[in-house]
Amino acid sequence: MAPQPKKRHAKSRTRTRKSAIKLVMPKLAKCPKCDNLKFPHRACPKCGYYSEKSIKSPVSTSQPKSA
Ligand SMILES: [Zn+2]
Repeated sequence: MAPQPKKRHAKSRTRTRKSAIKLVMPKLAKCPKCDNLKFPHRACPKCGYYSEKSIKSPVSTSQPKSA
């Protein structure tokens, strides 16, 4: 036999718990190089710069595929 709850939870108890679960907007910082919104403490995805240094080459949106 599966374990059963000993006491019934009130609706408000469930709803209070559920009210704490919500969507949060990610914290974004502006890139000092290109003013693109980026995650703080990460290299900019647009220009590839982190703290005045180029970490990686920027991702180009339209790249011709060679097949
Ligand atoms: Zn940038």
